[in-house]
Amino acid sequence: MKIHNLGFPRIGTQRELKHALEQFWSGQSSSELLRSVAHEIRAKNWKSQSFLDLVPVGDFSLYDQVLDMSVMLGNLPARAKEVEGAPLDHYFRMARGRSVNDTEASGVQAGEMTKWFDTNYHYIVPEFSAETTFELNPSALLRQIKEVRQLGLAAKPVLIGPLTYLWLGKEKDATDKWVLFEKIVPVYSELLNLLVDLGVEWVQLDEPILSLDLDNSLHEMLQTAYKKLSESNIKIIVANYFGELQNNLDCALSLPIDILHVDAVRGCSEVETLVEKLPDAMSLSLGCIDGRNVWKTDLNRVLDLLDPLAQKLGDRLWLAPSCSLLHVPVDLAQEESMDAEIKSWLAFAVQKLDELQVLSRAIAEGREVVAVELEENRQAIENRRTSTRVNNPVVKARLGTLTPALGMRKTSYANRILTQQERLKLPLYPTTTIGSFPQTAEIRSTRLKYRKGELPQNDYIQRMQAEIKHIVAVQEELGLDVLVHGEPERNDMVEYFGEQLEGYVFSRFGWVQSYGSRCVKPPIIFGDISRPKPMTVQWSAYAQSITDKPMKGMLTGPVTILNWSFVRDDQPRSITCQQLALAIRDEVLDLEAAGIQIIQIDEAALREGLPLRRREWSVYLDWAVNAFKITANGVADTTQIHTHMCYSEFNDIIESIAKMDTDVITIETSRSDMELLDIFDEFEYPNEIGPGVYDIHSPNIPTEESMLELIQKAALRIPSKRLWVNPDCGLKTRAWPETKAALKNMVHVAQKLREN
Ligand code: GLN
Ligand code: ZN
Repeated sequence: MKIHNLGFPRIGTQRELKHALEQFWSGQSSSELLRSVAHEIRAKNWKSQSFLDLVPVGDFSLYDQVLDMSVMLGNLPARAKEVEGAPLDHYFRMARGRSVNDTEASGVQAGEMTKWFDTNYHYIVPEFSAETTFELNPSALLRQIKEVRQLGLAAKPVLIGPLTYLWLGKEKDATDKWVLFEKIVPVYSELLNLLVDLGVEWVQLDEPILSLDLDNSLHEMLQTAYKKLSESNIKIIVANYFGELQNNLDCALSLPIDILHVDAVRGCSEVETLVEKLPDAMSLSLGCIDGRNVWKTDLNRVLDLLDPLAQKLGDRLWLAPSCSLLHVPVDLAQEESMDAEIKSWLAFAVQKLDELQVLSRAIAEGREVVAVELEENRQAIENRRTSTRVNNPVVKARLGTLTPALGMRKTSYANRILTQQERLKLPLYPTTTIGSFPQTAEIRSTRLKYRKGELPQNDYIQRMQAEIKHIVAVQEELGLDVLVHGEPERNDMVEYFGEQLEGYVFSRFGWVQSYGSRCVKPPIIFGDISRPKPMTVQWSAYAQSITDKPMKGMLTGPVTILNWSFVRDDQPRSITCQQLALAIRDEVLDLEAAGIQIIQIDEAALREGLPLRRREWSVYLDWAVNAFKITANGVADTTQIHTHMCYSEFNDIIESIAKMDTDVITIETSRSDMELLDIFDEFEYPNEIGPGVYDIHSPNIPTEESMLELIQKAALRIPSKRLWVNPDCGLKTRAWPETKAALKNMVHVAQKLREN
């Protein structure tokens, strides 16, 4: 039985790639240095995978593997290549708008970035147009194959399959991208033939679209493509991951390929059928180690499942992680200061591959040869299952008391708004911001010093209060109507809450690539969630005490906290979400009791939690919306609830958003020119909306005219008495001067609108 890996994290154990990239971009280091860091990371990664039968090659990328595929297929848009420069310049221009030698003027519009299936990884969207042609440019891959061979390892190139590549891309004109099918398949053939010439035996083509709702025409294209590709004298692995095959199962089994890899974690229920239906000429690679989460695999349980399959399939059974390990941190061994008990329950990329090795040895040589490892694993699994730190009877009991009434406001919006108006006395077109204000180096270092114990608590509180005082004064001077405290005490909108909730643990080096050089360190939910004490009240209450204007309390919602954490795999996500909802609900009620009249609960990540299969959307939306309602809706009619979402693609989910029944929702719309509000023509959103008029992702200061135009566009669809005026998102990443100038213009616009 062979074992292999679909991909390894490429940021390096200490985020070496991030640092090398950022140095290079800032002009402080050469491209040679960047390349040598990249080379070292790859070599280290391959060495740590050397016990595998096949190691992945081509999974490394300087920025993004989809962009790499675009380069390999010769599909970079003209704008990236027109400006002079080396291939590396073209590459970074497409990735981030600018290469190292570009000035602001020679920079180009970067490729659009969007999320890779249901992960938090962002890829650069391939662009297609009438001019699109493909031309093989395999130099980067060939170089890496050479490198891996120098280490004496068997290389398995990992590529994005042709159908998934087309599926991921976007048409930039009226062209139908699927007509490119005819052009793209021959280039893949050419590539496979080239690999054959080099003596490469295996290639992995990723087709994760097999986890989506595909129609017959896609099934046919898959069959045609792989029929053509199978003419090359190379053994093909087609890899699906992130879900079940469902209606694509027969299509996948009909492909003339050597191995089908499936996600046996999320697609566990299909394994039996697959084994039954597997054609004689095909082998099955089972992804039985979870590549999307950080928990140890229950090896004994997996072996019980695998043993009969191994009997039946013999050599035709392969093992691997469920998907590329890109989505988990690199190495748990670095977490020296983590709680030892919880650490014993976890596995990062390196540990997951160790698990794979234990499984394969147990199957090939018998469980006795790995008896020690299996026993250790059994104890860890058992310890986690029964630990009193995981299970909190008080939390469980409270979940049992949930009733629908808990998620309902006392009366309807139409009634609530009257009492709120009476209390808040806001003008027409009220102005507000989304929560955070610029975070200066000084603020960050104050937080860091406090965290390290270098700054006494009293001093810390004083400095934060001084910052809040400043932020409040700025807002009063600008004439904003609903103020915020500015969130200076928060490093991250999820981590801040995670750190104060029971049931969470944090890693020190558990970084996962989000895009390019950006990494996130998702906190880990290991146990039942509870809130030992208020988390934000002291800051909000202080901020309210120094102003007569209404101060918005600022919280992150349960669905967003859930979607941006590594979550438990021993209970449904919906249950964990309910626990989070109850904890944040208590915070909402405490804020209300402390005299806060407006509370915003951010749900920046609600949309990205949508399942890959449409059929499953409604179940998710039901529990997600319910969790939000539990959090928000315990307040009195006079308390105004806001939510914020960092996107405005609501077409598919607008009814669920309306069901949240928030008094006000602020969304991101400025870049799309309010076009994204089209849905409000068809669906009459009943409550108030603040469509963002200030693009906070750009350092540009929006003019009054541009913002006026945007609001007037919005007013065509939403009655003006229900419109708010606000930026697209928080201002944390902006600098002070531009922020003040932009908000000044924004407040003027609202004043002008009122005069009209
Ligand atoms: N309240 C948060 C802030 O202003 C919201 C951030 C977000 O939506 N991503 O930073
Ligand atoms: Zn946002």
